[in-house]
Amino acid sequence: MKFCDLPYERPDIAAVTARLQELTAAFGAAESFEAADALFIEEDALYRHVDTLYNLSYILHSIDTRDVFYDGEASFWDAQLPVLSEYTQQWSEALLASPFRKQFEEKYGEVIFLNAELEMKSFSPELIPLLTEENGLVTEYEKLIASAQIPFEGKTYTFEQLIPLKSSPDDAQRLAAWQAEGKWCAEHGEELDSIYDKLVALRTRAAKKLGYENFIPLGYCRMQRNCYGQADVEAFRDAVVRYLVPVADRICRDQAARLGKAYPMSYADCALTFRSGNPRPVGTADDIVAEAKKLYDSLSPETGRFFDAMLKDGMMDLLSTEGKMAGGYCTSLHDYDMPFIFANFNGTKGDVEVVTHEAGHAFADWYNAKRVPASTIWPSLEGCEVHSMSMEFFGWQNAEGFFGKDAEKFCYSHLADALTFIPYGTMVDHFQHSVFERPEMTPAERHAEWRRLTSIYMPWLRLDAEIPFYGEGRRWQRQGHIYASPFYYIDYCLAQTVALEFWSLIQDDKENAFTAYMDYTAQGGSKTFTELLKNAGLGSPFDPDCLRGVCEKAKNWLDKYDVSALK
Ligand code: ZN
Repeated sequence: MKFCDLPYERPDIAAVTARLQELTAAFGAAESFEAADALFIEEDALYRHVDTLYNLSYILHSIDTRDVFYDGEASFWDAQLPVLSEYTQQWSEALLASPFRKQFEEKYGEVIFLNAELEMKSFSPELIPLLTEENGLVTEYEKLIASAQIPFEGKTYTFEQLIPLKSSPDDAQRLAAWQAEGKWCAEHGEELDSIYDKLVALRTRAAKKLGYENFIPLGYCRMQRNCYGQADVEAFRDAVVRYLVPVADRICRDQAARLGKAYPMSYADCALTFRSGNPRPVGTADDIVAEAKKLYDSLSPETGRFFDAMLKDGMMDLLSTEGKMAGGYCTSLHDYDMPFIFANFNGTKGDVEVVTHEAGHAFADWYNAKRVPASTIWPSLEGCEVHSMSMEFFGWQNAEGFFGKDAEKFCYSHLADALTFIPYGTMVDHFQHSVFERPEMTPAERHAEWRRLTSIYMPWLRLDAEIPFYGEGRRWQRQGHIYASPFYYIDYCLAQTVALEFWSLIQDDKENAFTAYMDYTAQGGSKTFTELLKNAGLGSPFDPDCLRGVCEKAKNWLDKYDVSALK
């Protein structure tokens, strides 16, 4: 069925919760595994349906945030999701109490129980008003960002539309674009501070209600940390500073020299990898999609069938249009066993990353769509980002088709970006630990903390008054995850580390690397992150040797690479 023909109607939440209660009661009373399993499957079908309607509404709202009907639906879901949580928690409780746990574990894997336990630890009905308020604040932040009309060169731009200008090879124009964006953000600085202040206070209150000292342990439960904890993240952080920051710093020093800029660089100069401009895809949006089809056809029969299905059903909305929500994402529509990709094409290499990154997510979803329960289609989020970030590196084989003469520039900057991203992302995570350890921090203290961390993780960056807002240590307020999904960001760093493992494998033997990719992906979300890696023969990012090995390989590659040929 084509996306544009999928029917949406608001579900009757009272009927859904009533049915859930019946199922929960019957499940608790089931006398055999077979009887319990039938109810388990029925609950999963109910979940799939409600989730499909939620995602459909979310997609249609994000395609046009001005649409009054779907704006109303977004408010409806903001209010109703916490209500539903109360009943799904009762279901999870019944699941955990089931005398047939062993049989369920054998049939569906242990991870559903681990996740149900985390769910118990992160929710209680008395949190509902707080969660509703939290959802409302996140929507307020997203609306503020989506509503931005930034004056620049006599026109107005959204954040998305300004991205290409923020990496313009013209120094003056690029700096001016950063300053224009910074000015808009500074003008809305009080709103940005106030929304975050409220979020920190709310999340801290929720954590205390559940008996936690601060929000960090609750944040970990909410992020489904079912196989690692704070100490593991700290070990990863140390390895980043020790092994990766020096490699990333060298990349940035090379960049400054190449551009004829002073080190450390401003945000505006950091955004320009090459004097001749950043790599740009050749051709139109249709050309990018056509090249992606070639990539998926050549990788494997499964990836080929997947991409054909996406095209046939119109499961991608790629162009940047007015009123559209910023960013890109992939989500599932379980009722139809299909994923959906949302993006904002803007003529930069980011467009190619949509058809590799988001399509990596989509492929994993499509490949595992029939898994029961639906919660085991995708793993926890760092596991999901392995699907996408690794697929980006498999995309190198079609670099020429995507980028033409800029293909080499693309590969170099993709690797450089991956290596410099991890310190940034780790800093985003470290920053949030600081925030929630000291929820009483004032906005000014938070900005100061960001500046302090920048000097550790991104020593190549110069923060000063040249660019408003950014220079004050407020870059983090443009990182939506900090508002919407606390502690999510480290997931990207862990996954990028695994993706670099794939990059390393591809350098040695592409076929072998894709076999490992399928070994990893074919497990869906049936295991924890570290188990998925182990079963596919991949190293864990929590082992410092993993990052050390990847850094060594990258350093060798960079040493051999004649970067002087790229201007
Ligand atoms: Zn992703």
